[in-house]
Amino acid sequence: MNYNIAVIPGDGIGPDIVAQAVLVLEKVGEKFGHTFTLKNVLAGGSAIDATGHCLPQETIDVCKASDAVLLGAVGGPKWDTLPGDQRPERALLGLRKELGLFANLRPAMIFEELAEASPLKAEILAGGLDIVVVRELTGGIYFGQRGTKETDLGPAAYDVEQYAEEEVRRIAKVAFDMARKRSRHVTSVDKANVLESSRLWRRVVAEVAKDYPEVTLDNLYVDNAAMQLVRNPRQFDVIVTSNIFGDILSDEASQITGSIGMLPSASLAKGNFGMYEPIHGSAPDIAGQDKANPTATILSVAMMLRYTFGLTAEADAIEAAVKAVLSQGYRTPDLFTGQGHLVGTAEMGRRIADAL
Ligand code: NAD
Repeated sequence: MNYNIAVIPGDGIGPDIVAQAVLVLEKVGEKFGHTFTLKNVLAGGSAIDATGHCLPQETIDVCKASDAVLLGAVGGPKWDTLPGDQRPERALLGLRKELGLFANLRPAMIFEELAEASPLKAEILAGGLDIVVVRELTGGIYFGQRGTKETDLGPAAYDVEQYAEEEVRRIAKVAFDMARKRSRHVTSVDKANVLESSRLWRRVVAEVAKDYPEVTLDNLYVDNAAMQLVRNPRQFDVIVTSNIFGDILSDEASQITGSIGMLPSASLAKGNFGMYEPIHGSAPDIAGQDKANPTATILSVAMMLRYTFGLTAEADAIEAAVKAVLSQGYRTPDLFTGQGHLVGTAEMGRRIADAL
């Protein structure tokens, strides 16, 4: 079978890590008999340099004509002085909007071999950790009405949190579908004791839950959820929440794992289309030095195979290869604690590809 993938290496370490993810993808193709047709396109700082725009129309067109998108990372000090609406990171918002990516999936898992990297005590994490945060990505306060106005207290600014029932319903379905394939537990996070939009959120999630009798639903206020994530993270399976709460909680969840270079993410549209990228940024401090950990991007490829292409065995094989290489003691500098073998970006990628 042939699959079309738009590839956006981006800036900083983006090209370094994407090269390794492509190597792994090609190895999967060889081993399992698939053809992956890759088309490289520009976004972010490199696109600004080449075309004057962070998200050229050609990139949007190629992404729309593909089955999935693989993205490295964008941004860097070279473009930091540009006004907000012209910065490389703006390309991410543009891609989400143009491609209709309304659901952001961020797994926070701990590989046994890396348990010591977590800032939490070993007894809190005994037995491992495997959470997915499902964040609504195209609604809420980040996209609501905003403005400035005069008030009795002087100049003021406002941003509006608004959710339509349909926006909540579709993200809740993504979360319940996912929970069905995992430990069958959804925790919906809101602030329903204060916010009207959260009360609507909670009501709609409860309605969706009726279609999934085998999945347990809990509701938590966001302040309590933030606390529970560090007190007892193992109580969670799938967390579903709004754009702003998900932004914060998914960063908190990823910090629990202690290794930013290990965590993948997926942003999904209606149907099977998705954009896959590591959760970290372009790490300009180590770009082009063969120091970046390519594993988050390689695991993003595994998510692509699983969620967009339905290639479960192939996704499992990549995850097993990552585990095998970690258990053999290979570590990029971000994970190296003095024991095992210190390797660079290219060797890590090659070893994972070879372990397939
Ligand atoms: P960052 O994630 O790029 O880096 C934070 C720290 O983690 C740095 O010390 C970096 O060296 C390290 N790090 C990140 N990824 C790593 C990897 N794979 N292997 C080893 N170490 C890794 O965050 P930042 O420094 O805040 O941002 C740098 C640039 O990236 C900024 O321009 C920012 O806007 C952009 N950014 C882009 C995205 C994206 O493209 N999705 C996300 C976040 C930040």
